[in-house]
Amino acid sequence: MPSHITHALCALETRMRLNLPVIHSSWYILGSQGPDMFLHNRRRYPNTVSWGRRIHQEGYGRFVNHLGTFLHERGLGWDTPPGMFLQGYITHAVLDRKLHPYIHAASYRSGSRHLLLHPFLERLIDIELLESRPGISLKEPFSRNVDLGEHIPDLLTHMLEYGAERFGFTSPEPAGLRISNAYRDTRDLLMFTDQLGTQQLHMVFQRDDPEARKRVLSLFHPPEVPLGLDVLNRSGISWPHPWEEGVMSKEGVDGLYGRAVVQAAEILNGLLADPPGTYDISEAVGNENLNGSLSGQRPPTLRDSWLALEEAVEIRYRELERLSINDDLVQ
Ligand SMILES: [Zn+2]
Repeated sequence: MPSHITHALCALETRMRLNLPVIHSSWYILGSQGPDMFLHNRRRYPNTVSWGRRIHQEGYGRFVNHLGTFLHERGLGWDTPPGMFLQGYITHAVLDRKLHPYIHAASYRSGSRHLLLHPFLERLIDIELLESRPGISLKEPFSRNVDLGEHIPDLLTHMLEYGAERFGFTSPEPAGLRISNAYRDTRDLLMFTDQLGTQQLHMVFQRDDPEARKRVLSLFHPPEVPLGLDVLNRSGISWPHPWEEGVMSKEGVDGLYGRAVVQAAEILNGLLADPPGTYDISEAVGNENLNGSLSGQRPPTLRDSWLALEEAVEIRYRELERLSINDDLVQ
């Protein structure tokens, strides 16, 4: 799926398309990260990883509908902080469904290499989209855009707790604790990956296994996209839809992303006419999985990508390795 900056850009452009200002921007942009916040919960326990996977697979519309009902019960409108969070959350699903097939096809490598090529490609797409949109301002470093403080606001915990419970997530541990852990892990991860500084390089090169180092490095944005690497597919190379047997596409990221913004704006435009929670929004948002397909999670077509991403990873790795040795970071 697309990475955090691309989700933020899509959410911001969606509001611009509707000629609506972005208010409570941190809530809105955190909302645009959708259930990826649950997936980032890798350090603290109990965690929400299984929730994140499940909502990506099925039932997204039902989940956001419960969040809308929560707003209604509390008498909160679309323009309140949690109302903006919910709007951002809706844009997440639209963009995931549009872009994920391309990102999967363009980063796939047999073996386990795609586990690092996938996030690396997402970050290259972030850079290209950000560079081509000088009119959109994000705070720097990125983590400031989604920062609601060290601890998640109670209102947001209650809202997600409400949604999780009605969606059917049960566990012996309190849901609120899981949600708080997810928020803190997401915040830590985004702050850690804001910049590839000395501290980060040190942590990466403390690992012995070069593949493990590369996996961590793939979470950082390189300063620029390697020359000649057409990560947006502007040349229109034909690629196989990973979840739809025999379906080919020549579409690039500009087109897919642009269509996501148009669709997200249409959906929000329809929803904002009435207060949240007064009608069922699950159908408008859709319950199908976020891979852009109604079929299962496992890709039926596994074909190696045409993009020279591995070479780009190797060149970057060797540069950073040299840097870390020169700085005497590796003991
Ligand atoms: Zn996602």
